Amino acid sequence: MSEQVEFRNVSFRYQEDAPRVLKNVNFSINRGEWVAVIGHNGSGKSTIAKLMNGLLFAEAGEVRVSGEVIGEENIWEIRKRVGMVFQNPDNQFVGTTVRDDVAFGMENRGIPREEMLQKVPESLEAVQMGAYEEHEPHRLSGGQKQRVAIAGVLAVAPDYMIMDEATAMLDPKGRHEILETVRKVQQASDLTLITITHDLNEIVAADRVLVMNEGEVWFEGTPREVFAYKEDLSRIGLDVPLVAKLTEELRKQGIDLEEEPLNHEEMVEELWNLHSKM
Ligand code: ADP
Repeated sequence: MSEQVEFRNVSFRYQEDAPRVLKNVNFSINRGEWVAVIGHNGSGKSTIAKLMNGLLFAEAGEVRVSGEVIGEENIWEIRKRVGMVFQNPDNQFVGTTVRDDVAFGMENRGIPREEMLQKVPESLEAVQMGAYEEHEPHRLSGGQKQRVAIAGVLAVAPDYMIMDEATAMLDPKGRHEILETVRKVQQASDLTLITITHDLNEIVAADRVLVMNEGEVWFEGTPREVFAYKEDLSRIGLDVPLVAKLTEELRKQGIDLEEEPLNHEEMVEELWNLHSKM
């Protein structure tokens, strides 16, 4: 079965008399896919992440992971398969060295020592942190910390990795590097990746995007399809990237680009294409 995460008519509220923060949400994610979940603050993204690994339970509807409905009886099993990386890397460290940190999650799972000795360097290598085993985690840069956190998740070999605003505290360069890293790791390991963000620049490399608005799935499609919505995106509280704004301005001036560019390089490419046809 290729459908790995499935939300079927899922609704959720935090308190009985509070309004629902998820309203009849339906979507599915396939094995090995990278799905970006984007939406304004408070649109329900983190709630979705918490429902996926059993930190919360659906009030109505079903959340399925690998075909199993998540419930009290299987959450520990499910959590082994669903790894999470959060926004603030400092809250995720416990060890005095990078190596201890990556090993910590494995120790918790009772993974044999020989396997740990092999997996720790392997996981650090996968995120280009192989040279930092002996380093103290708190001395690393924000981007390096997040890579170590990702290595910790990879070391226990989950089927799914959820990154909840995991690049939000990094500068643009750090952000780009992390997204490149996870892309490589995801392709090499058949990992199903779910990234949660409020920044449209971060959806560019995903296979598919779920756009959330006020607790509902507002749109589901490729990054290019999402970028084409522009004005609607700013209406639902998302900052439209410069490239998308420029495309819109050109269109208003009667200059229609053939394909919706996702970044500066593609924009330049499209403009050259137009130029050569003139
Ligand atoms: P996002 O991740 O998109 O910012 P969340 O899923 O965190 O959105 O929140 C969705 C809604 O649920 C928001 O209105 C938020 O205020 C509310 N909410 C989130 N966590 C709690 C909580 N622990 N108790 C009560 N309300 C909450």
